[in-house]
Amino acid sequence: MNQKPRVRFAPSPTGYMHIGNLRTALYVYLYAKKYDGTFYIRVEDTDQKRIVSDALKKVFESLEWAGIKHDEGVFLDESGNIAEKGEYGPYIQSKRLEIYQKYVHQLVKEGKAYYCFCTPERLDTLRSVQEKAKLAPAYDKLCLKTYSREEAEKKVEAGEKYVIRFDVPETGETEFEDAVRGKMKFVNKNLDDFVLLKSDGYPTYHLAHVVDDHLMKTTLVIRGEEWLPSAPKHILLFQAFGWEPPQYGHLSAILNKDTKKKLSKRDGDVSVEDFKNKGYLPEAVVNFISLLGWNPKTEQEIFSLDELAQQFDVAKLNKAGAIFDLEKLDWMNGLYIREKNIKDLADLCRPYFGIASSAIRRKGGNTELTDKYLEKIVSVERERMKKLSDIAENTEFYFDAPNYDGKILKWKNMSDDDLKNSLNKSLDIFSRIEEKNWELENLKNRLMEAADSKNRGELLWPLRVALTGKEKSPSPFEVTWVIGKTESIKRIKKSIQKIK
Ligand code: GLU
Repeated sequence: MNQKPRVRFAPSPTGYMHIGNLRTALYVYLYAKKYDGTFYIRVEDTDQKRIVSDALKKVFESLEWAGIKHDEGVFLDESGNIAEKGEYGPYIQSKRLEIYQKYVHQLVKEGKAYYCFCTPERLDTLRSVQEKAKLAPAYDKLCLKTYSREEAEKKVEAGEKYVIRFDVPETGETEFEDAVRGKMKFVNKNLDDFVLLKSDGYPTYHLAHVVDDHLMKTTLVIRGEEWLPSAPKHILLFQAFGWEPPQYGHLSAILNKDTKKKLSKRDGDVSVEDFKNKGYLPEAVVNFISLLGWNPKTEQEIFSLDELAQQFDVAKLNKAGAIFDLEKLDWMNGLYIREKNIKDLADLCRPYFGIASSAIRRKGGNTELTDKYLEKIVSVERERMKKLSDIAENTEFYFDAPNYDGKILKWKNMSDDDLKNSLNKSLDIFSRIEEKNWELENLKNRLMEAADSKNRGELLWPLRVALTGKEKSPSPFEVTWVIGKTESIKRIKKSIQKIK
């Protein structure tokens, strides 16, 4: 590589950041990191109908959350406003309209593009005729054939509405080497005379990104495979301008596991924000999406961002669609959760508990969620957690004495007397342990010593239900350690009252 790579992520602010877009941004970032290149962000907002305010902020927040940093282009400044940095700006396409107009008119002058005055109605009719004849929809070059450039210019001056189309050659083939897919070949005859400049004076994506990737000196374009059919148009456009095209690499689609169709909003969670809110850790999401479409060709599955940057290789990107396997993400997230230290994990869990604890307070609970208390809960629960939000599920018993049906206190077919004895035994053990020795190991040892080694359930099951009100929960040692001596004793006494 004789030139330092310049790669870009080019989001369109259309509402939310799809997890697939995060994957594109990640690969672009990894590529720049690996080859010591420049990663810039350009905002593609030329489709004014689709712009959603605040969408851009979501893009930047998602990137920041994932730890994907860029060097140049559009940023969010400290006060959360959109800012730009770099020598190739502006990096927001809506601020570059004059540039596109200049270049498109150059093509018109050179006879490589032409004005088209066809009304939407005519285009609709043309489309339905072509559809009936089972032909691919394509513009029939009517305006190119009908008007000389001078005639067309007169119509424009007279205020007629127009678009500018590219005059795609009717013969020949367009070829390029895709970084992911290898040699690609398209027959020009099958390509439509696509629009370059729309009637509102805005460029289409085709024109804008070609001009920008040239002026901003992009060396490699990594983008989704939905752009592959348009790639020959882009190559032709580069050729028409007399510019060297960048290399293109089209990523495989991310597929729904069941339908094997492209993962879309209809499938549920697809935005980065959804995953963040559910309590997936950025490290896990980044690791997981890195493997959607990239195969390290080793057994290794767990990668930090730095390791990814070292090992990333465009040649190992897959052509085939990548299945989005939520179970695998859950597994990976669980691993990353267990790697966190308790204090950090407690901080991450706090917002989820905020919701649970206020709900509990409304019900009359009064346990305060202090840092220490939260850390204890987290250290007990983290083994089972797949996502941070799990912390607030089925954990009300840490805050409030449970309500439950006394019947579930019985282990197997214990009699009422056995049950009473069992709970009294626990009560007795607990009463004799001093507060200062209320430590997990100690509690466990004392209870295990007292339990009949052949039938531990007889002591431990009723105790666990008395403490949690649940048939499934963490062990009684852990729960009693968290809720403390006074509360444990209170709950056991309450459970004894439930026995007839
Ligand atoms: N703005 C385009 C999109 O959001 C980017 C495609 C590209 O990277 O060139 O799909």
